[in-house]
Amino acid sequence: MSEITKLTAVELSEKLAKKEISAVEVTNAHFDRIENLDNKVKAFLFLDKKGALSQAEEIDKARKENKSLNKLAGVPLALKDVLTQKDVPTTCGSKILENWLPPYDSTVVKNLKNAGVVILGKTNMDEFAMGSSTENSAYFPTRNPWNLNKIPGGSSGGSSAAVAAFFAPLSIGTDTGGSIRQPASVTGIVGAKPSYGAVSRYGLVAFASSLDQAGPFARTVLDCAMLHEVMAGHDPLDSTSINEKVPDVVSASKTLDVKGMKIGYIKELGGAGWQTGVINRFNESIETLKSLGAIVTEVSIPHSVYALATYYLIAPSEASSNLARFDGMRYGLRVDDQNLSAEEVMNKTRAKGFGKEVKRRIMIGTYALSSGYYDAYYAQAQKVRALIAQDLKNAFKEVDVLISPTSPTTAWGLGERVNDPLAMYLADLATLPPSLAGIPAMSIPIGLADEDKLPVGLQIIAPFMQDDRMYKVAATLEASLKDKWNGLLIDSIPDLKVVSNG
Ligand code: GLN
Repeated sequence: MSEITKLTAVELSEKLAKKEISAVEVTNAHFDRIENLDNKVKAFLFLDKKGALSQAEEIDKARKENKSLNKLAGVPLALKDVLTQKDVPTTCGSKILENWLPPYDSTVVKNLKNAGVVILGKTNMDEFAMGSSTENSAYFPTRNPWNLNKIPGGSSGGSSAAVAAFFAPLSIGTDTGGSIRQPASVTGIVGAKPSYGAVSRYGLVAFASSLDQAGPFARTVLDCAMLHEVMAGHDPLDSTSINEKVPDVVSASKTLDVKGMKIGYIKELGGAGWQTGVINRFNESIETLKSLGAIVTEVSIPHSVYALATYYLIAPSEASSNLARFDGMRYGLRVDDQNLSAEEVMNKTRAKGFGKEVKRRIMIGTYALSSGYYDAYYAQAQKVRALIAQDLKNAFKEVDVLISPTSPTTAWGLGERVNDPLAMYLADLATLPPSLAGIPAMSIPIGLADEDKLPVGLQIIAPFMQDDRMYKVAATLEASLKDKWNGLLIDSIPDLKVVSNG
């Protein structure tokens, strides 16, 4: 691997600032590696080499002229294909949006461009972000760089794989019920879901609007925080955007201290049915946190046991409404011939353009919202959602942050769960409660499971708009684990090293 692709965003940023390397060099080094290896990983749906290089040239020029630049200027990033980027294909992993070119930038992309972050291309994902393995992509599955026969998590599996494979130091995912945290967990990287409303949803193609939130992936906590800072902020174009100062996640990531901090591990998330290797690493992390001076206690979130059922009513209900706009009239695919009525065009377009999981969700959601069933399902789910949020609020009266394993298992084999949607949904057990409550949560790598030597993630959950708290815990734990591994966990990534000549 070239030295450049091994660097973190912070290291790249320092070298760029000192003019030791140029943004064009950095961009080319990453494209070289992608061109050598992405035929194996399949992280990208689209590479924008021309756009990225011209962006990089602009940064180099601005730097030469000694213009003041953001720290991340010239640092490359991979973007989940659910966020619009002007004139760059945005498919959401679906055939229904194949060849669609958005006429505008999402606010996230606008913020990235303003900071001078170089966008390499669009990453693969489960169709409309529905899934936990990226196998629901209408194009191809993405593979886990740790073991190419395993899933990279989902729905942001292209973005997690891109960072784990050193195709980019940074990437962006979106998280509705866990789609940043679970892929981060199973690929051994850091991923954060900010507080709901902290990052604008303008130009983020909607799955379940009350839950969707874009967030950063990186190989270190500080890198993740730096991207978080650039993405977040109030946006008048999104009516649910929070008009508050973004918590200072960057400073928090430099504060390596959890002394006296109260940390609660969630009683209901763990135990029977959870992979032993996951639980072992989790328990070790608890001991590490204690040795660092944190006060760790068990906390109960009683209604969290209903989170899965609640989420799988609310998310499909919102999806059934949001996806009504893909009808062959306005965007992308249109199945038409002279003799079809408008209704037939819509039916045929949707039948052909949507995959199996998307259709399943539309049907579940339509059912849960239909008159006669609305009160029994959708309204009931909303009530339970409020109870889960209340449980979490109560817990934060006792503790500063909550922790759990991010996912019940490590990465499973490609194909293993595709025909068993319920088994797939179970991957979200731990990530759903904070999603339903709209509070921030992140995943950091805490080691490898004994059984399969695959990465295990720890979830850290903080109160609303206190994202900095979780970063502080994450950075402190990361630093102590780094000593244990003598480097980053990601440096022990097996498969790609062998084949890499990039
Ligand atoms: N795996 C969950 C689902 O399929 C979460 C997806 C997400 O967060 N986008 O809905």
